[in-house]
Amino acid sequence: MGWPHGGGEYAEETYGEVTVLVGARRVAYPYANSLLVRGADATLLVNPSLSLVHGAPPPDVVLVSHAHEDHMAGLGGYDVPVHDHDADLSPLRSREVMVAGFGYPPEEADAADRMLHDDFCVTGRPDAVGFTDGTVFDLGGHTVTMVHLPGHTPGHSGFLIEPDGFFFEFWRGLAEFAEVVERREAALLAFLAEPRTVPEIADHRLVYRPHVSGPHVDPVERHTATHHLAA
Ligand SMILES: [Zn+2]
Repeated sequence: MGWPHGGGEYAEETYGEVTVLVGARRVAYPYANSLLVRGADATLLVNPSLSLVHGAPPPDVVLVSHAHEDHMAGLGGYDVPVHDHDADLSPLRSREVMVAGFGYPPEEADAADRMLHDDFCVTGRPDAVGFTDGTVFDLGGHTVTMVHLPGHTPGHSGFLIEPDGFFFEFWRGLAEFAEVVERREAALLAFLAEPRTVPEIADHRLVYRPHVSGPHVDPVERHTATHHLAA
């Protein structure tokens, strides 16, 4: 598999002043949804995804629900203030910190770093500013309140838009599960830039961290490697 470098497309779903920009392939990684809220004074964009890399509406401020690549691939296109939760600020500011957070062994971490740069245009935003639970962005006639929902990442947050009563949370179980699988697959493809055998891939560890041992590890790794290769 593979995807065009920033050639995503999106569709608009409108709920009053709130527009959900639905990524190509719906919510599937790497094309996550984005959210656009228009107030009388300002327009706010949440999670500029890969689908927006070409020609997205111009916002005055950008928020990121959590510092993962599929929710920030479009960031480079915006020369406006960027905010995410204090607890996810470091990986948003630095791609190196984001990759370290994946906990991959060195070779796979290098592949993941290349993938973030080449496929997700992630460059890090050292200028990003933190918010906390309850921080309010007043857009004029509409407010967006940060709701801290740690778990998927330490700083993962949802967004309550009032008076519309619209709540947006990007952690949708299946989509995020797919995100983990897809990232692993993309890292595998980067690893496969040179030919590898199934045992080599299994040794490389797609599923378990290097310190995990046991009779189940090798069969699961071989099964997963074979499954990914067949996909
Ligand atoms: Zn995520």
